[in-house]
Amino acid sequence: MIDFEALFKISYGLYIVSSGNEKEQNGFISNTVFQVTAEPPQFATCCNKSNYTAQFIERYGSFSVSVLHQQADASLIGRFGYKSGNEVNKFENTRFVTGPSGTPVVLDNCIAWMEVKVNRTIDVGSHWLFIGELMSSQLLAADAEPLTYGYYRRVKKGIAPKNAPTYLDKDKLSALAGKADATSDALYKCPACGYIYNAAVGDPDHGVPAGTSFEEVPDDWVCPLCGTSKSDFYLLENQI
Ligand code: FE
Repeated sequence: MIDFEALFKISYGLYIVSSGNEKEQNGFISNTVFQVTAEPPQFATCCNKSNYTAQFIERYGSFSVSVLHQQADASLIGRFGYKSGNEVNKFENTRFVTGPSGTPVVLDNCIAWMEVKVNRTIDVGSHWLFIGELMSSQLLAADAEPLTYGYYRRVKKGIAPKNAPTYLDKDKLSALAGKADATSDALYKCPACGYIYNAAVGDPDHGVPAGTSFEEVPDDWVCPLCGTSKSDFYLLENQI
């Protein structure tokens, strides 16, 4: 048997992985960044083949990793996690620098960053696994807590976007959510990022107490993950 809830006990961080040069940049939210060896320091990231940033990493042969602060802005996560660089310029209105090796590095909500030169690319089916050597890095906020995927799911009520290696499809999610939500009010879903508004939970971080039906949520409330308007949310027919 496979118990999908077991998979959530593996811990991950949340990062912005970027690639490009001084003229063009793209990046996405990744939860699969890890150090592979200490000598030399090598890092890996896993990127969906259809992800626009994957093309940049292949073209430029490098990527940067920006470690996000635990209180990272939902709008930043929404922009980099749930939108494609094909459609929007994610770096417009984003604070970034070009690292010593020429890779764009996002600084917004970033507590540390590293620049990696790719020396190996492994085909793992739906994703590319990019492995490379650390070229430069900088610690920006020694005492700040990094954002973890567990915190993002538990506190920020976020879910993995479709291209993430840890994405669970609707059927698997419904098996997990069905029990908890069976007695709650109607659920409404964000069309951009998949965030689900649950009246039983509300959005206390943004002034919407638990027990507030979706109709009672203020009209100027926006998706806490990506900033999509309340009016764009839709009712979930099957109450996953
Ligand atoms: Fe959203």
